[in-house]
Amino acid sequence: MTTTTSLFRLQKLDLEIERHDQELTMVRRGMAGNPQLRAAEKRLADMETQERETATKQRRLEADLAALEIQIKRDQARMYGGMIVDARELASLEKEIQHHAVQLDALEGQVLIGMESMESLQQMIANAREQTGALGDQWRNSRPGAKRQVEEQESSLARLNSERNALAATLDARALGVYGRLRSTVGHAISPLSGGICGECRIAVPSKDVQRVRSGDLVSCANCGRILHGAV
Ligand SMILES: [Zn+2]
Repeated sequence: MTTTTSLFRLQKLDLEIERHDQELTMVRRGMAGNPQLRAAEKRLADMETQERETATKQRRLEADLAALEIQIKRDQARMYGGMIVDARELASLEKEIQHHAVQLDALEGQVLIGMESMESLQQMIANAREQTGALGDQWRNSRPGAKRQVEEQESSLARLNSERNALAATLDARALGVYGRLRSTVGHAISPLSGGICGECRIAVPSKDVQRVRSGDLVSCANCGRILHGAV
């Protein structure tokens, strides 16, 4: 087997390894949790955090409301209890009660809004839980298949890699060096030579080079630099 034929086979193996690697990554990514499920779980967790914060805020508002109601009742008892006779003191107490009544109104409004937002949040959470649960079931059901796919890809990769290493061991360092550089720069390192034309860049190859390719020499395309493979 000529060097170029070996390199051509090496490239075929490398492309196949690359494809299996990509497939394996995709299957593994899917197994780590599908992105749709992860996004749904994140949304749910955010809403649950928001619910806890809203509940804390709500409890604080309700405590403030209760304290204010007690305060108003106490002031009213003092106001009408007949213990205060001083007109100015009575007037100031009345003003305070009025001021507190306004505060009470505002607080009641806030508590009501809080209750409403809590209700709609809980409804949204219930929906999100249902959706996340369904996505989770779907994912878990697809896992046995994914596990088998990973095993298949891994065994294919092991087989291809050992084949590749065995082939590479038969090639000299210079040829491997040229091939490696081309693979990392242009992707396809080997170009099929057909009818005197470079299969990758479609430029005519001088006939003396075509002859050298036929005799098994390592010849690069003068235009794209790829190794010309002319077995066909
Ligand atoms: Zn070319």
